[in-house]
Amino acid sequence: MSIIEFNNIHRAYKRGIDVLRGVSFSLEKGEVVGLLGKNGAGKTTLMRIAMGMIEPQKGIVSLFGLGPRDEPIQVKRRVGYVSEDQILPEFLRVREVIQLHRGLFPTWDEALEHDLCKRFSLPLNAKIRSLSKGQARQVALLCAVSHRPELLLLDEPAGGLDPAARREFLETSIQMLNETGTTILFSSHYMSDVERLAGRVVMIHEGGVLIDSDIDLLREGHSLVLVPHAPKVTRDALLSIEGCIGVRDRSDAMHAVFRCQPRDALDRVARQFGSTGARHRDVALEEMFIELVGGQS
Ligand code: ATP
Repeated sequence: MSIIEFNNIHRAYKRGIDVLRGVSFSLEKGEVVGLLGKNGAGKTTLMRIAMGMIEPQKGIVSLFGLGPRDEPIQVKRRVGYVSEDQILPEFLRVREVIQLHRGLFPTWDEALEHDLCKRFSLPLNAKIRSLSKGQARQVALLCAVSHRPELLLLDEPAGGLDPAARREFLETSIQMLNETGTTILFSSHYMSDVERLAGRVVMIHEGGVLIDSDIDLLREGHSLVLVPHAPKVTRDALLSIEGCIGVRDRSDAMHAVFRCQPRDALDRVARQFGSTGARHRDVALEEMFIELVGGQS
């Protein structure tokens, strides 16, 4: 049984404007999966559906084989969730917020709580409102993980942190927990985070799963081909080529991302258009994704 399974999830907030249009993927025990997608792609929506905070209009989500809205307590006890805009009660002290959470979870691990307090050097007597953004994220994380969840859902948990703090925060949360077998789904705008921390990436684009791949296979199995402008080299013509999954019209050439090795991609382009002067460009995954979704991924 999968730890979490999204099956054909559809969700719209306004009639006719679908955010998710048939999203399906699942996570097996111990996997760390990075969820990518540009602003508004639906990452938060998907996480909220997993937590039972909103309902899909179509499709089924299950965690440990249970529906989050059917068995909310059983499910939430086994899950840790940190959202991008997590609000902690500002008037409470750090110590009180931790106590509050400790009381909610029968599996709370005090040794882990103390370890994280020490690791983050949290000021236990400080009021939440006096914390920096990074410290507030750390408190939220401590509260989400000290009951040793089987599944951790992190929705841009390091948003607003500077690059060094982001790295430290993600490394602590993801690597440390995964070592103890926790399954983790985390959303991020940074392919570099996903490459460093996840074994697999799922990218949501235009309501569906555009990519679901092991990171290493992704690196080997995708290529960027630059095809010089010509009347026959249209976006639609490129997209009709087998394996072409994205095209951007740039000033220097049409940039096409293929789900295959560069040599195969160039062969296919030549078969479609004849000789065009197309060439392969070696790029980092981050850049490939920007090509693919047309902006910040
Ligand atoms: P980001 O990377 O910017 O956080 P995201 O991938 O998490 O984006 P969502 O927050 O899930 O995306 O939003 C997806 C779309 O749904 C957006 O167009 C957003 O405006 C819309 N949306 C989200 N929540 C609501 C809501 N409560 N009411 C109406 N529309 C909403």
